[in-house]
Amino acid sequence: MKRQLDGCSNGSKRSTEAVDTTHLYDKPPNWTSNACLGVAKERLIMENVNPGYFSTDPYFPIKVLNYSLVVYTATLTVLLLYVSLSVTIPFASGEYSFLQYLAWYLFFSVLLNWMLILKNSSVFTSNQFVKTSEEGDKYCDICKHWIPPRGHHCVLCMKCILRRDHHCYFTGTCIGFRNQRYFVVFCFDVSVSCGLGWYFLMLYLDSNFKTFWSEDNYHYLLPLTFVEWLLRWGGIQAFDLFLLTLAWWSFATFVTALVYFSQQMFVIVRGQTSYEYSRDVHTYRTVLCKHLKSVFGPFWVINFAFPLFFIQQEGNGISYVANLKEV
Ligand SMILES: [Zn+2]
Ligand SMILES: [Zn+2]
Repeated sequence: MKRQLDGCSNGSKRSTEAVDTTHLYDKPPNWTSNACLGVAKERLIMENVNPGYFSTDPYFPIKVLNYSLVVYTATLTVLLLYVSLSVTIPFASGEYSFLQYLAWYLFFSVLLNWMLILKNSSVFTSNQFVKTSEEGDKYCDICKHWIPPRGHHCVLCMKCILRRDHHCYFTGTCIGFRNQRYFVVFCFDVSVSCGLGWYFLMLYLDSNFKTFWSEDNYHYLLPLTFVEWLLRWGGIQAFDLFLLTLAWWSFATFVTALVYFSQQMFVIVRGQTSYEYSRDVHTYRTVLCKHLKSVFGPFWVINFAFPLFFIQQEGNGISYVANLKEV
């Protein structure tokens, strides 16, 4: 059964074999039938038509959100390391031990994977030629070039992304063919860091602030404790309020990162991107081993201990073999 890959295709027959990338595509674009997400809005901007937001840029709110969440991630990473090393873990272990080294390792692993996410952007440029000779391929009206299978335009990055999964606001870039492997490890490391950070914060607060399993545990409700601190009730100290805020912040990020990590592994195991999963596209599903290698490379599990950036994953991000049974 034929499945339409995404909203950018023009509805014609899709290739069922590996895409040949050796010839230039010479067919003129079909300007009227490409309905990529964001194309209509971009045209409004180009035609100087205010699309109805308070800014003439319809993406202004999500751009602000993008930069805000990058600051969120960076701030939490540094704060959590500092508090863990200087306050909570010494309280828990009493000496500079394995837990402190683990905190440093997680900190550097998060930063290294974040750097690799940004460095290995999955941007597709027109000089990376795509030829399909099939009628169903997509044309990006904004970048003015054809897009390989599984690629999509990102309205925040303003570029076409190879095997695009999604735009990550927490790292500030698109996740696609080249950097998805680092993003998954980044989510894993952030969830472990924040989970451990939250655990030690709670141990510290339980002993030095208010006993959690007692009638005093309502002090762990952050808005209430904040009001108490403002009104100088109950002897709430600013430092206690800071640690309590950091504990809730860590817990929320722990849950968020764990959800992202689980969701990413789920779609990778299924041989899909998040974009394809949301549209029930199974065109490129093969076997589990190939799905993992196409994202992480041949020694996929080692990436979780150390990012194997010098070993490429399978494929080139441009041509794919479609699953004949599914098409
Ligand atoms: Zn584009
Ligand atoms: Zn993007």
